[in-house]
Amino acid sequence: MIDFHSHLDLYPDGLALAREVNLRNDFTLVVTTSPRAYYATSRVFSELANIHVGLGLHPEVAEAKATELDALVAGIKGARFVGEVGLDGSPRFRRSLDLQGRIFRAVLGECGQQGGRIISIHSRGAAQRTIDALATAGDVGVPVLHWFSGGIAELRAASRLGCWFSVGPVMLASEKGRGLLSHMSLDRVLPETDGPFTSERGLALMPWDAWSICSTLSEVWAMPHEAVQEQLRSNLRRLLSDKA
Ligand SMILES: [Zn+2]
Repeated sequence: MIDFHSHLDLYPDGLALAREVNLRNDFTLVVTTSPRAYYATSRVFSELANIHVGLGLHPEVAEAKATELDALVAGIKGARFVGEVGLDGSPRFRRSLDLQGRIFRAVLGECGQQGGRIISIHSRGAAQRTIDALATAGDVGVPVLHWFSGGIAELRAASRLGCWFSVGPVMLASEKGRGLLSHMSLDRVLPETDGPFTSERGLALMPWDAWSICSTLSEVWAMPHEAVQEQLRSNLRRLLSDKA
């Protein structure tokens, strides 16, 4: 099982849970919201071979964490995965868009300088801005748009830029989410939960719940369940082999 976008460090008793996740999931990408959280989380989870930590600065906390921008850029050299980074243009966070843009451009620029990174990207309410930033930045590695919620034209533009998509049970519970999925290239899709900020029937999604998207994928892609699972595993293998 795979969860390509989890906030595992933000669950209550995250370390005990991480030990269980390490056994149940083959691969979990823990995205962080600030460089400080990245270093702390990397240390705490360092023994857990199936858990990987991304260096991030979440756009929702851009104002509070802007002082960590230098640490963020400096850390990219030593980080295999970058995230959560990106832009949020929703009403609550729109006022910091200029600052968010400066941070995001700095991150993309450094990822390009360092020969490319796998980047988990937030783009709520800012799909076009995110795509524009990626287009301007050029080759930054592999951008993985997490919980993409833009339109079909934006999805196509992102795909042309080489973007991948991580999709989760809550996204696929909506008609719009399933519609977007049907326009994604199936060899560039990965499962995610975005837990603990997502829930089903009142319970926070756990990193192993990402795999439940296989039944929706099976319907939308008209593929047997086993073939969907193998597709997702082979997508991850290709991404990690740097042949994406
Ligand atoms: Zn997230």
